[in-house]
Order: sequence, then structure tokens, then C-alpha cells
Amino acid sequence: MKKGFKFYIALWGAKFGTMLLKLFRRNATFFPGKFALKVCPDFIGKIEKPRTIIAVTGTNGKTTVCNMIEDILKDNNYVFIDNKYGSNIDAGITTTLISGANLMGKAKKDLAVLEVDERSAPKVYPYLTPTYLVCTNLFRDSLMRNAHTEFISGILTKYIPKETTLILNGDDLIASNIAPENKRIYFGIDRLQTDSEKCENIARDIIACPKCNTKLVYDYVRYNHIGKAHCPKCDFKSPEIDYLATNIDLKNMKLTLKNGSLEEEYDLISDNIINIYNIVTVITVLKQIGLSQKQINESLKKQKIVDTRYSEEGVNGIKIITHLAKGMNPIACSRVFDYVRKYKGNKVVILFLDDLHEAANGSENIAWQYDTDYEFLNNDSIKQIIIAGARYLDGYVRLQMAGIDKAKISCQRDEMSALDNIKLDGIETVFILHDLYSMELKESAKKKVEVMIRTKIENKA
Ligand SMILES: [Zn+2]
Repeated sequence: MKKGFKFYIALWGAKFGTMLLKLFRRNATFFPGKFALKVCPDFIGKIEKPRTIIAVTGTNGKTTVCNMIEDILKDNNYVFIDNKYGSNIDAGITTTLISGANLMGKAKKDLAVLEVDERSAPKVYPYLTPTYLVCTNLFRDSLMRNAHTEFISGILTKYIPKETTLILNGDDLIASNIAPENKRIYFGIDRLQTDSEKCENIARDIIACPKCNTKLVYDYVRYNHIGKAHCPKCDFKSPEIDYLATNIDLKNMKLTLKNGSLEEEYDLISDNIINIYNIVTVITVLKQIGLSQKQINESLKKQKIVDTRYSEEGVNGIKIITHLAKGMNPIACSRVFDYVRKYKGNKVVILFLDDLHEAANGSENIAWQYDTDYEFLNNDSIKQIIIAGARYLDGYVRLQMAGIDKAKISCQRDEMSALDNIKLDGIETVFILHDLYSMELKESAKKKVEVMIRTKIENKA
């Protein structure tokens, strides 16, 4: 493709801008790309890209999956570009491509790992053909931005290039059906003891057969629409899985991955089903680009699910666990609530699930709270729920609708003073569930709870 004058102005301007931003220690992961796209709207198409591109999209897990792929590749001495520290929309991806190219717009590296926001499909895929595109799952999320899953799966199907090989979650009947003409590889997890005959969740994004509209029959449900289903009237059904995780052994933290007649053992680094999916996704991608079981597993063992999403520490016999539970994202929240209720021992749950960041952007829709399984928090092992933040009253109403005893709920506007109400008697774990936009709050809350536990023990002694 002829690059043209505009392209070079965009490229050099962006490179110069990056230099200036770095000189003043400003974040240079978004604006250089934004500038380049402004000057040259088809910039992504014109810049030379690495020969192999792994793109990761989907509602939940894309950042974790990208981080793990990047860490394991790095550990095995692969060189590549990625948008780990940048944004996952067109401007962020453009910035990454610029930093990975020389002054003539030639790619400096052969491999790219890119997280791509689902809604950016129309702005990215017409200009960039991923070698592999991973779709982790598709759920309802941030209603105001994403509308519904048919809208998202529709734009993916429309814009994904025909040459791209898809790596799809075969346990997700929505994600597994995007771009049906493309070559595809499915990963999935074999039936688990915890799977059930009927769905416990409020939200289920596919109920009827997309071909003939007949009500689907679920062979089993894992959560929401994840599981195995078939249409009783036509041939629509969950796909055959190419990379199937089986023998999930939470005691020894191992799993077996079956691919045809090949069976390989891998280490599980988390017992949370969401992370088991992430691990299976990562292994499938890395196998696909040629890494061996040994290469993957040796590096996998060194991995930790990043601290910003999950942390746990013991203070005088009481555990403090912080867990990301994205507000506006009912499925992510429900998964965390499910994890909390099943966690052994008595606990206090602190909810800082404000969608304040969204509100600042003009979204004030709280419908997501009613798609979220707050009912899971109505559990005997949860002795107290503390809810605070700008939306504390909305949360209070929702908790009561879930049938939770008012006496268990402590609620007030100010987050830090709400913590003064914690009752630690007989408690084994304190969960702090927080949003992506409340990281600092989470850290301060964790410190305060630590001090409270220490003081309580000292007072007793
Ligand atoms: Zn059907």
C-alpha cells in the first residue's frame, strides 16, 4: 500500500510527541495514536505490522489472558510488542504499532500480542488482520456502552477478517458462534461436579436457538449461559472441543489438557473457575503458536494472578482478601459473589462497587445491579455486609431485595468510616470487593482493616 505524505506526518508527529511526553514523564500510551489517527484515519492499515498477531477480545478475562500470554512468552525469550500499558481501543493499538515500528513505518518485531476492546472491532479489523483472535467469552456488560450480546457478536462477525483463525470458548454458545465462516479452534472445560441441571443466575444471554428460535435444552449449566446445550428441533448445539481441560484437581492443583489423542498435565495456579478458563485459554493459544508443554508449564508455575485483581494475606489468623468485582459488569460481579459464598469459613464482605467512573462519563444506569446475583450473598457464612460509596443506597435496596437480613447490612456514604462498623468476632475472612476505579481506596481499606485486626487481638491480650 502506498503510504503517502499524511502517513509520514502522522508517524513522525506521533514519534516526536511520544518523545516529548516521555521527557515530561507523561503517559504516552494513548495520545500519540490518537494524533496519528486524526492526521491519517487509515493509519493502522498503512503502518507495517508484525507478521504474527495474537489479538484477544471478549467481555471478561482479556487483560488477564494477555498478561499471562505476555509473561510466558517473555519467560521463553520471545520478543514482541504489546499494549499491556496502553489502551485497548484503536488509539492505544495505534500507539503500540508506532512504538513497534521504525521511522520508515517498518515493523521492528515479528510478533504482537494485542488486547482489543470488542467495540473497537469496526475501527481495528478493517486495517489489521490478526493471525489468531481469541474470544474469551461474551456476556452482557456496561449496558450503556455495549448494548447487548447480539450487538457485540454482530459487529465481531461483521468485521473480523476472513483470514483470521479464531480461538473460541466452546462452552460459551455466543462467543463460539461469531464469524461462522472463519477457521476456528475451540477450548473448553469438561463437565464439573459443581455444574448443575438448571441455571442459578438471573442473567442468561442465550436461551433460544439462534437458528430456529426453539428453547434450548441445557445438558448442564456452569454459570449464566456457560455450559453445554443443544436445540431439540434443529442441529444447533455446543461445538466439539479441540482443547478440553479435564481432571480438574483442586486438591493437587493440576489439570489435564486433551487435544485429540494427546493428553498433557498442567499446573493450576488458581482455584477460581474464571481463572481456570483464563489458564486454559492461554495454554491453547501458546500451543497453537508452537510452545511445548514443558515451556508453557515451567513458566505458568511462576505466574501469579496479578495483585491488582486479587490479593490475600493473613493477619493474626484472619485472612484479608481483596478481589476485583467490576461494577457495571453483572457477570464479573456474580462470579466473585459466588466465589465469596463458597469460600470456607465465616466472613465479612465489604462492597465498594461504585460505577462512579462511568457516572462521570454521563452514565447513571444502575440496571446492572439487577442483573447481578446479589442473592449469592444471602448465605449463612456471610455474617456481615458493609456497603459504602456514592451508590450505597442503591446497593442497600438491592441487598434487601436479595432477602438479606437488614441486621447484617451496615451502610453509609463514606467508605473509610464505614469500616469502623466491622464486627470481627468469629470471622475468618474479610473480603474487600472493589472496582477497577477504586484501587487506592482498596489499598487504604486493606491497611485500615489490618490495623483493626491487630488492635483487636492486642486488646484481647
Ligand atoms: Zn434450533
